[in-house]
Amino acid sequence: MSEKPGVYLNDRVVPLEEARISVLDHGFLYGDGVYETMRVYEGVVFRMEEHLARLERSASLIGMGLPKSAGQIRLAIYETLLACRHKDAYLRVTVSRGEGPIGLDPSLCPRPTFFIFADRLRPIVRADYEEGIRLAVVKTRRNPAEALDPRIKSLNFLNNILAGIEAKKAGADEALMLNCKGQVAEGTTSNIFFVKGGALCTPSPACGILMGITRDVVLEVARRLDIRVVEGEFGSRDLFFDAQEVFITSTIRGVVPVRQLDGAFSPGSFPVGPVTKLLMAEYRKEVSSYVENTRAAGPSIWGFGG
Ligand code: PLP
Repeated sequence: MSEKPGVYLNDRVVPLEEARISVLDHGFLYGDGVYETMRVYEGVVFRMEEHLARLERSASLIGMGLPKSAGQIRLAIYETLLACRHKDAYLRVTVSRGEGPIGLDPSLCPRPTFFIFADRLRPIVRADYEEGIRLAVVKTRRNPAEALDPRIKSLNFLNNILAGIEAKKAGADEALMLNCKGQVAEGTTSNIFFVKGGALCTPSPACGILMGITRDVVLEVARRLDIRVVEGEFGSRDLFFDAQEVFITSTIRGVVPVRQLDGAFSPGSFPVGPVTKLLMAEYRKEVSSYVENTRAAGPSIWGFGG
């Protein structure tokens, strides 16, 4: 079985060593493009349709047409997974504005560059799920929607990278960014939730966040369980002084408890509480039933090795 990553460039699967793009690609020169990160469980891409819809939305928000239809992207994803045969994988679809002469004008680039990369997942750190991670409120503020809309999952990631550097310096595992109004927004690659008086709280879209697909799944699951959900505008005080439990969500990591919060006020500590534990378990169940249903309904292409 191949241990190599799966790589698809523009119109075909290629060996990683042969996957080369031009130095004049505007994705490289200007961070001009969009992407999606997906997680493959037992050969099934979890919530692929939602990821493809968000890719389309991101592209449309930067005025870029995708070079392939959703059906063609789906096929390219299957081909990439079959080429590398990783069943539990990280999968990224990247579409950049493409190659063109120097200059910001997107019309200089006649054809977007399309790239899929699938690889084995990094081993999970069990303690992160059992004990929780450390989060630091950083000084770098989340881009306001008026400058670069956080709903766009763009290649222009410096805002998040700078926040991540700050968090690392503070000894934390993830940064928590506030928006320009000082409201809680999101992590560098995650959404944030907290439990307050039995309600599950998370920043609303108006706070300027990426509409995480894991966030949506957790909200769906919580509503199904009759947990009261508040999508609102919160300050860091709400987290430091009122939260009983805190966790983050992302496609690759799922639901991860937060045990310590540093930054704005003296450190806050949190248990891996009952609501977090319940949602972690229900999220795993949601993934399992999605995988089962997809395998039962899907094409035999998903049956490889299994
Ligand atoms: N917020 C940001 C800025 C992200 O980059 C990500 C994922 O990379 C998320 C939130 C979580 O989104 P999802 O659950 O769709 O992975």
